[in-house]
Amino acid sequence: MHLTFTRTPLNHAGPQRTDPAFIDACLRHPMARTVLLTRGDVMLSPEGEPQVLHPAQAVDLPLDAPGLVFLGLEGEMPWFAASVQPGTVAPGLDFRRATMVAEPDMAAILGRARAILTWHGRRHYCSNCGAENAPAEGGTKLVCPACGTEHFPRTDPSVIMLPYSGDRCVMGRQPAWPPGLFATLAGFMEPGETIEEACAREVAEETGLKVVSSRYIASQPWPFPSTLMIGLLAEIEPGEPVAADDIEEARWFTRDEVRELYEGPMMRWGPPHYSVSRLLIETWLKGG
Ligand SMILES: [Zn+2]
Repeated sequence: MHLTFTRTPLNHAGPQRTDPAFIDACLRHPMARTVLLTRGDVMLSPEGEPQVLHPAQAVDLPLDAPGLVFLGLEGEMPWFAASVQPGTVAPGLDFRRATMVAEPDMAAILGRARAILTWHGRRHYCSNCGAENAPAEGGTKLVCPACGTEHFPRTDPSVIMLPYSGDRCVMGRQPAWPPGLFATLAGFMEPGETIEEACAREVAEETGLKVVSSRYIASQPWPFPSTLMIGLLAEIEPGEPVAADDIEEARWFTRDEVRELYEGPMMRWGPPHYSVSRLLIETWLKGG
């Protein structure tokens, strides 16, 4: 099974969605569908599945601004998303839990929906002049009517890496994690950095260890709320890790120790396909 939130079934229809007549036609399409979030969580149908309504039904709900947002086309089928005002409906299912059990295509659609809707929730006003933004292109961008600035949904790149040397790897744990759980290191990229430089900086900040080289393995959209996880294996110089930053403990693990850990605490955290962290660890275990 592939990583959750990857391999979207949606064609984002970038060229077409600039035409308001295209968005109108999508809204009226008999097969059009809308997924519904509330406070970032997933609204469920009576059967316990993510609730899906035709846009004509969804638009009657008390929706947060800007209302329906166009997500893309799945074949001929247009998909929209909307955020229902909290307090007007029952709480949704926790987004993480909902997407752990959703069908892969639905999880990818929900991930795109959450990233865009969260962005709308934080961008009512133009960051350039303070006027109220207006949605454009089906809600996939905002335009300031006062100064003309265009605002696009954010994607925040983050590096996530498993440092290793020889037959051992280094993993760390954060204070909030379940007891005994260790995992890959991660952090947001900073302006002026390459991916490799961000990887080396984060490893140094969190463990004091020096990266010799790093290799890209895979990436994963991570809609909590709008991160792109860039996964790497990082070869490091041997040395004793010194935990710092948001890491409370970091240490070396042999392959056997990693296998033991991941048959225990990590399995309870979530399914293996849910995070690129697990993919990095499995890639290293296989000697990749
Ligand atoms: Zn403005």
